[in-house]
Amino acid sequence: MASDADGGMSLQPATLPYVGNEAARRFLLGTWRAGRLAHAYLFVGPRHVGRRTLALWLARLVNCHAPGETGPCDRCSACRRIMHGNYPDVMVVEPEVDEFGEVKRGVLIEQIREVVERRAPLRPYEGRTKVFVIRGADTMTPQAANAFLKTLEEPPAATLFVLTAADQARLLPTIVSRCQTVTLRPVPTRTLAAALAAWESWPDRNAENAELFARLSGGCPGAAVLATQQLDYLTARQHWLDQVSDLVSADRHQRLATVAGMTTRSAAAPLLDHWLTWWRDLLLLGSGRGEGVTHWDQRAVLANLAARLRPNEIAAFLRRIEETRDQVERNANVRLAFEVLVLDMPYVEAAA
Ligand SMILES: [Zn+2]
Repeated sequence: MASDADGGMSLQPATLPYVGNEAARRFLLGTWRAGRLAHAYLFVGPRHVGRRTLALWLARLVNCHAPGETGPCDRCSACRRIMHGNYPDVMVVEPEVDEFGEVKRGVLIEQIREVVERRAPLRPYEGRTKVFVIRGADTMTPQAANAFLKTLEEPPAATLFVLTAADQARLLPTIVSRCQTVTLRPVPTRTLAAALAAWESWPDRNAENAELFARLSGGCPGAAVLATQQLDYLTARQHWLDQVSDLVSADRHQRLATVAGMTTRSAAAPLLDHWLTWWRDLLLLGSGRGEGVTHWDQRAVLANLAARLRPNEIAAFLRRIEETRDQVERNANVRLAFEVLVLDMPYVEAAA
């Protein structure tokens, strides 16, 4: 592949053109044109909604050699190097994540020292503005956050900080108050589906797949793109769909046997997130709000099942899944948490 020749710095696949959150982009563009950009922004929104993409778009905007009406040109050498992660004035600090994208280790003080504290006082090498992108800023350790705050309190010239976070409440209020917050929201299904259906780098694109992937991603374009690039994505999904629907009709003994193998913490959280989408669909279908279902291709099966459950029973179990998700995050015994959970799962006799 041609892209491997330039150092393989970025694993970025052929990207989907930016979709959604137009208001945020227009706001930033207008502020930049007026020469009134703040020195620090905080982009808050769910994972894969496009926080990093927007941060790098802003980094290109402030360093592009020929910005146009709608933003950076994306063709000049500054734009291209920023997109490939090898532009000296754009620095990204991020937490360590595992294969599922779950944070293994938050942003450390060493990272803040080595990248931010060392580079912030220096002039840009070649661009107009040094941009520090702090991804997962809400994962900064207290020491890292306090060190970062010192730099933020006395912002050096020609420097722009862009923090991204899922949960603003987990940031120091003193950091939040020094940033201009921009909230990013999931993209409406119809908008994302249209973008996916028109995306030329996706060989399997068609209206039906686009609708399904837009829904499965929860309106987060990055999640949809990752899913399209994972060869076994739909197979893996079918596996857990079968498993959860079998569990509903399984007896105590079978339920415990099924979860005996589900003991790794890293796999537990994503699985519980999947279960949440499935049970939420049952609740939507059971209460006549089927338009919003995630598992669009399964809606007939799910509607059938929902008709045999009481909505309050489903709602109660949804809360149990959420509690278990919290427990797993707080390092509870994963196997025990799953055992207790599946025993609380509503039961529906298997269809004949
Ligand atoms: Zn450019």
